[in-house]
Order: sequence, then structure tokens, then C-alpha cells
Amino acid sequence: MSTFTSNRLRGITPYTPGEQPRTGIRIKLNTNENPYPPSVQTIRSLSPVPRPLEKYPDPNCSALRTAIAETYGLKTEQVFAGNGSDEVLAFAFMAFCDSIAAPDITYSFYPVWAKIYGIKYHTIPLNEDFTVPVKRFIATDKSVVLANPNAPTGIVLTAAEIELIVRTNPDKVVIIDEAYMDFDSGNNSAIPLIERYPNLLVVRTFSKSYSLAGLRVGYALGQEQLIRNLETVKNCVNSYTLGSLAQEGATAAIRDVGYFKRIIAKIIATRERTEHELYKLGFEVCPSAANFLFISHPEGHKFGAELTAYHASVLQSKLREAGVLVRYFDLPRIDNCLRVSIGAEDEMTRFTEILAALI
Ligand SMILES: *Cc1c(COP(=O)(O)O)cnc(C)c1O
Repeated sequence: MSTFTSNRLRGITPYTPGEQPRTGIRIKLNTNENPYPPSVQTIRSLSPVPRPLEKYPDPNCSALRTAIAETYGLKTEQVFAGNGSDEVLAFAFMAFCDSIAAPDITYSFYPVWAKIYGIKYHTIPLNEDFTVPVKRFIATDKSVVLANPNAPTGIVLTAAEIELIVRTNPDKVVIIDEAYMDFDSGNNSAIPLIERYPNLLVVRTFSKSYSLAGLRVGYALGQEQLIRNLETVKNCVNSYTLGSLAQEGATAAIRDVGYFKRIIAKIIATRERTEHELYKLGFEVCPSAANFLFISHPEGHKFGAELTAYHASVLQSKLREAGVLVRYFDLPRIDNCLRVSIGAEDEMTRFTEILAALI
């Protein structure tokens, strides 16, 4: 902080994004990116450059929003598009929330947005097994944000549980962050609930399931009134949040359904195989409906400053020395856990071999 820092910024602890090393790392499993490239059609849509770049992009992202709407059987007016779902979520916090309830263990960006927008952030502890205590989210008298599947646990709530929370908080917006829902094999998305609940906003991203983390495109789905509010926020901040290339690439990606389904099936198969390997190595693994596994070794202990060789932070540094990046959060309740993104098949084979050699 300096003498120039605004009051708003004072005392803020910003979100820390996972590392994006350019050299030295052979297997990158720390930020839940898709290990596979975007589809050929997506790449083709970007080259040659599709629009005159000297002109501003379409501020309404019409073609992209229509493609998204058609994918889910919604109207274009029920879709908002933004520069990554982080931006969409930030706008939703600004648009709808005065106080908000969230689990104690979840996406660590939520408390940061609450803080910078002056929203009261109310945490509800996850159960011992890291499942969401659904009953405690009933009639909260606050807005609610839930990542479903949750991050970093990967555990998914059923659509019926989400509906209960949405139905019992009718005067508040319930934001369901479905960044990882495409990796769930059940039918747990809240999207089919949109037509019945005017207070439901579902947020999604192209970063993970569509292999487009580098393009920065996210979106929100909800009834028109909510979407109009998000557009108002956008037009109070930056009317052109999505560049022409981002709009073009995301539109092509969501239309290429065949490629999308193949990649998702591959990642789910790799997740299941890796989960099994980790069990064999003695790890506890949260049941994951996402493209990552949240794992912990029961022999990882901390005695004062002494850590056993199985402790998550020790494993993380040893993996790093071996050229493998995974995510470690030094936070209460999860400081003996590692979040491991699902990489390509051969990367996960290598990962479990290296891990087996460490323990
Ligand atoms: C990755 C992630 C996001 C952000 O995605 P972007 O679209 O890349 O901004 C949002 N929510 C959760 C839970 C995530 O893990």
C-alpha cells in the first residue's frame, strides 16, 4: 500500500492465481487447464484473423450468445458473455449481492470480490467429509454462491439439492458456478431450473472443458431480468470486455459438439483411472465430478514445524523438483491436501509413478 492507495483497496488480500511457468515444468497439473488443445474448427475460426481488428468488436457478443443459447435451449436474452467467468462472477457479485453466503472451503476468489465490492461475506463450514451442508443454505436471507462441482474438492451437489437452495432463497440471487459441470457424468446442472426460478444465475466458462483458458471467455445463464442487470454492470465498467477473436473462437468451440464430447470422455476416463491408482498408493481421494482430484495422505502429519514425508506441502515441493506442478493451499482444514488437475493419459501415468517413488 502507498500514500496513493484508495480506501477501497486498503486491506485487500488479492486472489493468487496458480503459477504459469514458462520453463522447467514437464507436467503441469496445478490450474485445471484442459491438457488437450482446442478443436481444429476452433483454431481455424481464428486464422486468418476473422474480423477487421481496427474496428471495435460487437459489444453485445450476439453471435456467441446465440450459439450458447442454442446449446442449452435458451433465448439469446438469457445469456451474458464476459471475459472469463471470473469477470462474469465479479459482475454478478456487484449486480446482485449485499451479503452473500458461501462454504468455508470453496473457490478463493469469492471472498476477494465480496471484500472489494463491500459485500458481507458469510461462510458456512463444509461437513467433515467436505460435502456441502445443504440444510444450512436453506432460507439464508443472503445471496448464495456455490461452485458445483465445488473447488477444490470436486464434490458435486445434485440438481435436487441445488433446487432446494434456490427455492428456499426466493428473494436473493443464488449463483451456481458450474466451471467444472461438463466433467460430471450425472445430470446435476442447474440450467434446466432456469425457466422456473427468476433468482437463479448459472455461471460457466470455456477455460476448462473447451480448452480455451488462454482466450478468456465465460458466460452466465438466467432469466432476462438478471441478464439485463449484468449488462448494466458491464456498461458501467467496460462495454467491450470480449475481443473479436475471443467471440469468434468461443462460438466455433461451442458449435463443435463432437470434439468436445470426445475430450470430456477422455478426461473422465483418465480421472477414474488416476483415482484408482491413488487409492492403491494409500491416498484419500474426494469423489470428483471435475477435471481434478483433491487428495490427502493419512500419514501426512505436522508435529510443530516437523512435517512427515507424506505431508501435502512436502509432496508438492518434491513433485516440483521432479518437474510436476500441483496446487497446494496453505489454508485451515485443507493444509494436508493437494489438488491435482487431470492431465493427458501419459502425464497422469508419469505423475502416479513419480508420486509412488516419493512415498
Ligand atoms: C477456473 C474457475 C473459474 C474461472 O474461470 P475463468 O473463466 O477462466 O475466469 C471460476 N470458478 C471456478 C470455481 C473455477 O475453478
